[in-house]
Amino acid sequence: MGITVSLHSELREALGEKYVLVEPEDVIVYERDGSIIQVMPEVVALPADTAQVAAVVRAAKRANVPIVPRGSGTGLAGGAVPAEGGVVVSLARMNRILEVDPRNRTALLEAGVINLDVTKAAASHGLFYAPDPSSQAACSIGGNVANNSGGPHTLAYGVTTNHVLGVEVVLDDGQVVWLGGAVPDTPGYDLCGVFVGSEGTVGIVTKALVRLMRTREAVQTLLAVFDRMDAATQSVVEITGRGIIPAALEMMDKVTIEAVEMGSSLGYPKGAEAVLLVEVEGVREHCDRAVALVREICEQTGARQVKVAQDAAERQRLWKGRKEAFGSMGRLAPHYYVQDGVVPRSRLPEIMREVAAISTRFGLRIANVFHAGDGNLHPNILFDMRTPGELDRVIEASDAILRACVAAGGSITGEHGVGLEKRNSITLLFSQQDLDAMAKVRKAFDPDGRFNPAKVFPTPITCAEMRLVPAKIPAGLWI
Ligand SMILES: Cc1cc2nc3c(=O)[nH]c(=O)nc-3n(C[C@H](O)[C@H](O)[C@H](O)COP(=O)(O)OP(=O)(O)OC[C@H]3O[C@@H](n4cnc5c(N)ncnc54)[C@H](O)[C@@H]3O)c2cc1C
Repeated sequence: MGITVSLHSELREALGEKYVLVEPEDVIVYERDGSIIQVMPEVVALPADTAQVAAVVRAAKRANVPIVPRGSGTGLAGGAVPAEGGVVVSLARMNRILEVDPRNRTALLEAGVINLDVTKAAASHGLFYAPDPSSQAACSIGGNVANNSGGPHTLAYGVTTNHVLGVEVVLDDGQVVWLGGAVPDTPGYDLCGVFVGSEGTVGIVTKALVRLMRTREAVQTLLAVFDRMDAATQSVVEITGRGIIPAALEMMDKVTIEAVEMGSSLGYPKGAEAVLLVEVEGVREHCDRAVALVREICEQTGARQVKVAQDAAERQRLWKGRKEAFGSMGRLAPHYYVQDGVVPRSRLPEIMREVAAISTRFGLRIANVFHAGDGNLHPNILFDMRTPGELDRVIEASDAILRACVAAGGSITGEHGVGLEKRNSITLLFSQQDLDAMAKVRKAFDPDGRFNPAKVFPTPITCAEMRLVPAKIPAGLWI
């Protein structure tokens, strides 16, 4: 399949010349997401509204080429990478917050709205949007829906699927339909649920109606400092085991603290093996009690220090360090590869020991920063792609981590999705029968397999072949 002259001109006619990109120096910006996989797009379409998205989908169907939906490109599994060519449809221009409805506590959003902007728009009504990926200053609502994204505060509030009431979608023939809606629990199949977590394989989400939550009366943030990783992971098990569900329960290890604090001092203790960032929210009395209990548990399990942020500024500094932790990895190594496995949280102590053993076995430095309360690991493997053979070792180490997660009763992804990167690892979890059943659901929406092909489902080629698709860099182009 390739992009034809007639498809180009159809797209230009529908969107205007400026919003159809084909020149290498324009499309190269869309060659990758946050993963290590890259493929140069053939054409990128930037529609302004749902009608234009539908026009692009119809044109792609007539030309028989793939359609790859794209939000902000912060995905970490190659989901927005155009593995089989076709039209990349960027939703970035569709970034209007159409309504904030305080009485029904909902917001109607275009798919390209940036996650953090929803909370900013709702704040004056005493409301906020709960799913808060650490990339929330950049990622889009459409991407969040497609990946069913989580974040630090989803321990208490749930992931995206718990906050999406309905979606407007463009189907494979260009039809525009609403699935779900303002009234919860509509009869019939949960078709909105099919789109949440579908990773762009069943259609394009153009709008979402999301729930808003009331801002809590009080919030307190604690930092517990540990000299042993085992003690930190055991604290997580004890805190949740004692019935306390903090709003957030995040962990950063020594290597991550080093990276974060190399930038500017945000209050993380250098030299500690691990820290827990614990946030409790609710009515004031509940918060005070929860803080006292968390402190007691952390001290009992061996925390060397537990401190409570004294004001909003200190709290924000601590969160800044956590939210910018991935970005800080660049201070330690030219490249990092972030993994996303999940285990039942009671298995955290053993899985972290296993990650440490894998780091030693493969001779690779690993920085851990993750949603500990959800048992959702993010080992960042630090490396230098220019060192011959190093990427292969990184891939093998990462595969070993995923296998260890599955062996511990967990899964190959906690929140980043399967995408291109893990489409072959999915067989660690699902049988051929399971996958066939899923493929039938997909086919019901996308009979020609045009939406985001090569994603989620395994292919006959090996992982090693799929892992890194080098971009064809046009001569004379600087990157
Ligand atoms: C620093 C950093 C921190 C992160 N932290 C978290 C975290 O805490 N929790 C978490 O869950 N994730 C996290 N992520 C991963 C990523 O931000 C999320 O997966 C996010 O939801 C992707 O949104 P996006 O708009 O960038 O989507 P993209 O990367 O553009 O696309 C992601 C997938 O969604 C599909 N898609 C995008 N838009 C649409 C649409 N409108 N309709 C249909 N399909 C669509 C794409 O085809 C692709 O398969 C992090 C990433 C980074 C770089």
